[in-house]
Amino acid sequence: MKSVRIKDKNFKLSITESEILEKVKNVANKINKDLEGENPVFLSVLNGAFMFTSDLMKYVNIPSEISFIRLSSYCGTESTGCVRSLMGLTTDIKGRTVVIVEDIVDTGLTMLKLLDILNQYEPKEIKICTLLLKPDKLKVDLNIDYVAMSIPNDFIVGYGLDYDEYGRNLPEIYTVE
Ligand code: 5GP
Repeated sequence: MKSVRIKDKNFKLSITESEILEKVKNVANKINKDLEGENPVFLSVLNGAFMFTSDLMKYVNIPSEISFIRLSSYCGTESTGCVRSLMGLTTDIKGRTVVIVEDIVDTGLTMLKLLDILNQYEPKEIKICTLLLKPDKLKVDLNIDYVAMSIPNDFIVGYGLDYDEYGRNLPEIYTVE
C-alpha cells in the first residue's frame, strides 16, 4: 500500500482520492437540498479546509457566497492566558444562514470557540460542515450537521491537513504509522 514520509514520520494511505470525492459529493447534495432558498454564506476555515472547500463548492449548486476565515491564537502573560480571535470575516453575516466548513473536528473545542465568536454577529443560524470527525475524541456537545467521514483517533495528513505544515497538498488522506 502507498505510503509517504513527512519529516520524521511515515504515513500510510487510508482514504483514496476517489473515496473522498464521493463523500464530499454526498455532503454537497445534502446541503443543496437542505439549504435551497436560504442563500447561505460558506465560511471556510483556513488553512486546513482549503482543499475540501474547493471540491465541495464545485458540487454546491444553490446560490451562495464563500468567504475564508482563520482563527488565530494570541498568548499573553501567564495570568491573561491565550485568546483566540477571528480573522478575515469580511461578509456581513447578520440574519444569514452560515455554513462553517472545517477540515476536522477532534475534541470540538475549536468549533465551540468559533460558534461562540460567530454568534456575536447575530446570524440567522449556523450549520457545521466538516470533512472529518473523530467521534471518540469529541469532548463537547456539538450539533454537527454535515460530516463527510468519521475516522478513528489516529493522526492523519493530506487533503488540506498538515504535519508541521507539510502534506497539505496530498490528494489522499494518510494515517501516521
Ligand atoms: P479540536 O479543537 O476539535 O480538538 O481540534 C481541531 C483542530 O485540530 C483541527 O482544525 C486540526 O487543525 C487539528 N487536528 C485534529 N486532529 C488532527 C489530525 O489527525 N491531523 C491533523 N493534521 N490535524 C488535526
